[in-house]
Amino acid sequence: MPSSPKTLQAILGAPGLRGEKVTALSKDGLTAFIQSTISTKHEMKEPFYVLDLGVVMDLFDKWAQTLPMAQPFYAVKCNPNPAFLGTLAALGSNFDCASKAEIDSVLSLGVSPDRIVFANPCKAESHIKYAATVGVNLTTFDSKEELEKIKKWHPKCALLIRVKGPDDGGARCPLGPKYGALPEEVSPLLQAAQAAGLNVKGVSFHIGSGAMQFRAYREAIAEAKTVFETAASLGMPKLRVLNIGGGFTAGPQFAEAASAVKSALQDYFPNEPELTVIAEPGRFFAESAFTLATNIIGKRVRGDLREYWINDGIYGSMNCILYDHAVVTCTPLAEASKHGNPTCKGAKTHDSTVFGPTCDALDTVLKDYPLPELQVNDWLVFPNMGAYTAAAGSNFNGFNTSAILTYLACSNPI
Ligand SMILES: *Cc1c(COP(=O)(O)O)cnc(C)c1O
Repeated sequence: MPSSPKTLQAILGAPGLRGEKVTALSKDGLTAFIQSTISTKHEMKEPFYVLDLGVVMDLFDKWAQTLPMAQPFYAVKCNPNPAFLGTLAALGSNFDCASKAEIDSVLSLGVSPDRIVFANPCKAESHIKYAATVGVNLTTFDSKEELEKIKKWHPKCALLIRVKGPDDGGARCPLGPKYGALPEEVSPLLQAAQAAGLNVKGVSFHIGSGAMQFRAYREAIAEAKTVFETAASLGMPKLRVLNIGGGFTAGPQFAEAASAVKSALQDYFPNEPELTVIAEPGRFFAESAFTLATNIIGKRVRGDLREYWINDGIYGSMNCILYDHAVVTCTPLAEASKHGNPTCKGAKTHDSTVFGPTCDALDTVLKDYPLPELQVNDWLVFPNMGAYTAAAGSNFNGFNTSAILTYLACSNPI
């Protein structure tokens, strides 16, 4: 079901976007939009992002169609761009925040605090106190120490016990090594919460970001079921919330992940009309919505090898190569050297290295990558750059990731 014009109007007027220019893209119009941005706005040739709101709307529809029983709480850490958050808020997403500042950025969009889960199992006391002040009343825990802090600063907060699933799903970024109660820790933790008079409402897990093996959802949902039973056997009020976390990637894998979730819900939680299922997708919504344009600022020729320097790299947006184990791709936009054929269709390619701008050899973005002969001032365009990119970049060597501008566009406008 395509998003209605009403939805689009609501998004364009939403906090985070209001007053921003949004350019409608025709089919395959992204390249043309990047070209016009380069020629009209980027004399200084700084890198920039394009956020395609049409992609976000499509993904939101896809989620609602494929996993309608799981309310999405978008994981802000994945990409906190305000226009992106505003779009998700207008579409009806809720939010997963991990810090005071993330809570602030979501509340500042006019989102009510009951649409936020403070899904960080280990929070600073000052952040817990802040959550209490602003009315964020749902959080996760996996230790007795966390329960003590919550009891002290936010005793009315509803709690989800974060469990470590049996398997990290072959994830690009496993989270199990850091978070989640082990099976033998569950009962003592529930008893500690009960003794402290705290309100445990349900169970949460995360099978790992960029998961590949979706049976991990089934195993974690089975594990969650045993926690529900443990709580019942301890005489606690019935648990009602199941938080299946993130780990979803858009594209064909999504259907596979969703069917693993759905069949496990049917098998382990049949006939539970009162169960609320929530999820915390980050990558799913962010990854393909953002495209990054970078400028070629340097070149060296060594025999057959071509080496290029661009103005964003490992210490900036491409930190995803290190931290998110991402494999990035790019296409050329030869705005300076090939006016007649900027996308270089049919051009002979050379094995090329693409370096970032800092003076560290680690700052290498691509190796042995086929690119046509390009020149200084041409551009390289990187698709699928929305997840764990700008969010975790630094200002190392004076290259300021947080200064990279984002232009808004909308494909398939109605
Ligand atoms: C990072 C994180 C997410 C988002 O994970 P994705 O794999 O990007 O969907 C969700 N929940 C928690 C608790 C996280 O730490």
